Amino acid sequence: MQPVAIAEPAEDIAPLVFDSPHSGSIYPETFDHAIDRMTLRRSEDAHIDEIFAHVTEFGGTLVHALFPRVFIDPNRNEDDIDLSLVEGEWTGPVNASFKTTERGVGLIWRDMKAFGPVYDRKLLPDEVRERIEGYWRPYHNALAKVIDARHAAFGRVIHIDCHSMASMGDITTEDGPVPRPDFVISDREGTTCAPALLECVVDLLRGEGFSVSVNDPYKGMELVRRHGRPEDGRHSLQVEINRKLYMDEATLSKRPGFHDTIATMRRLTDALRNLASTL
Ligand SMILES: [Zn+2]
Repeated sequence: MQPVAIAEPAEDIAPLVFDSPHSGSIYPETFDHAIDRMTLRRSEDAHIDEIFAHVTEFGGTLVHALFPRVFIDPNRNEDDIDLSLVEGEWTGPVNASFKTTERGVGLIWRDMKAFGPVYDRKLLPDEVRERIEGYWRPYHNALAKVIDARHAAFGRVIHIDCHSMASMGDITTEDGPVPRPDFVISDREGTTCAPALLECVVDLLRGEGFSVSVNDPYKGMELVRRHGRPEDGRHSLQVEINRKLYMDEATLSKRPGFHDTIATMRRLTDALRNLASTL
């Protein structure tokens, strides 16, 4: 299957690149998971690709994954391997993060958080390799190519890494079983973009009456870490939208707030297009 889709602007390009690594919902035949599909689908950032589809009208490009993040997660490093999930010898590099070892949500998820283990088997090293080479790398290569091209054209680029989050944490998450704000905006503690970009996003959302948290409980993961180099004119910001604003979290169906959420994001994209020339 095609692992990644790229939606390009119809007319004038702007130095804006958005990516949605977790909204894919085409489950590869080789997945062979134990947990039921509907439960598994609660890990998707459902509809985020659609919520940001408008960016092409503002000169932006949207790169989005077609495969599910629970199959292999583009927002983890390639070596964030869970060895407890691999049968036999894994010969590639391993640098397992806390999310992998403690929570089972590394490059390839072991656990569906509060819902239990994803597999009733271990994965063969060839399966893991196939996911990295057939899905993870094509996603990263496609995104890097688009960001590099925009940076070459303008000398600067704004990259927004787009996500959604459950409305509540649980016992397995960083924040515990508490309600989450409407948005969490993350720049890895001021390291992945100019302060003006973070301020622009936070001010616009708060100005529209939303609750916004910065770098808490999420600091920003692999995609902004990889692409955010503000000293080189590469500005990356992670945006998490609370799913309760636009969808039913159990069925994934859209709620009445869906179109309002898109309208807010359109205003945000417009503001970012104006900001880009000043960075
Ligand atoms: Zn996500």
